[in-house]
Amino acid sequence: NVMPPPPSLRRGRDVLVTGASGQDAAFLIRDLLHAGHEVTGVCRACTRSPSALWRLATLSVVDHPRLDLVAADLADAPTVADLVDRTKPSEVYHLAAESNVPRNDAFPLDAVQSNVVASVNLLEAVRNLAPHARTFIASSSEVFGDAASSPQHERHPYRPRNMYGATKAFTHSLATHYRENHGLFVANGILFNHESALRDPAFVTRKITRYAANARNAREPLHLGNLDTLRDWGYAPDYVRGMQAMLEAPVAGDYVLATGVARTVRTLAQQAFVAAGVTLAFEGSGFGEVGYDANTGRVLVCVDPSFWRPSESVPLVGDPSKAFRDLGWAASTPMHVWIETMVEADQGHPNLTHPKIRILQYSTG
Ligand code: GDP
Repeated sequence: NVMPPPPSLRRGRDVLVTGASGQDAAFLIRDLLHAGHEVTGVCRACTRSPSALWRLATLSVVDHPRLDLVAADLADAPTVADLVDRTKPSEVYHLAAESNVPRNDAFPLDAVQSNVVASVNLLEAVRNLAPHARTFIASSSEVFGDAASSPQHERHPYRPRNMYGATKAFTHSLATHYRENHGLFVANGILFNHESALRDPAFVTRKITRYAANARNAREPLHLGNLDTLRDWGYAPDYVRGMQAMLEAPVAGDYVLATGVARTVRTLAQQAFVAAGVTLAFEGSGFGEVGYDANTGRVLVCVDPSFWRPSESVPLVGDPSKAFRDLGWAASTPMHVWIETMVEADQGHPNLTHPKIRILQYSTG
């Protein structure tokens, strides 16, 4: 039972974080800055434009003196080598990826560039230029894809069944190779879905909380896909703590970060509406199912075939017992609590109206 040392006792102070415009990087960078680290954040369009950096601005760290933001294309090997050479990081968190499943399927070569080529470049640069760095690689529950059994633990077979899962399975395997054959400290976090008010609205959690928060003014019902899909949803700041614990552990390894509990999209919707003061009831089945306000009868949710994806025959649910045993980590924030924070943010929480913030508009989700 190894508890991580307090952050102040950690070895180096220089940390490289890729994917700095994303949800997880925002929470991670905030934690690292609070712990006294010098952080270099990398993203494709880190031009300090509000649209790329709204998450860091929301957490009030975008102007922090110990945060350096760099715009770089990680698919370009010389750029990555230069970045690692100049920063000489003691810790690297590789969070950059296109993480939306339909977008990966729609643009498969972009997915390979963003998720695979970038990871190869980064691991090579660490091997050649910063071999003592501790590296965290963001793997995903999607590597299990067509899972054989549930819940899935670290040694469950990888059977990805979409482009995103395939790219993550490759990167995960590559990271293990660098650990075992090149002697690098590389940890894979097998991350199940994790959400927050910084989540992109293309993901179903944010799509639902946005609608529920403003349901009173909505002209038409929320269009969702498969309401029976089960997911293991947790709260992103908890998962970011798990990533740090992996780099503080005495040996590098693979860890599932998950809640261990599966819930349907229907339950998620009900909880979001509860947070917005609406009791949602469902009736009908398949494409004819509707969710309605139990008090007024008004239809608030309908099933739209254009968002429909088949359910996994075996649900993706993580077994986080290794992370608990070795790292003392657990997904401690209950679902109703984090859903409330998302609904509150979507109701116009002051943080989201920060003058630097312009929320990107996605046409679908
Ligand atoms: P994912 O698990 O990384 O694909 O995260 P998402 O948040 O995009 O989707 C989670 C699950 O919700 C998927 O299995 C979808 O089939 C299901 N789902 C149901 N309705 C919707 C919807 O309207 N939008 C999205 N994105 N997912 C939906």
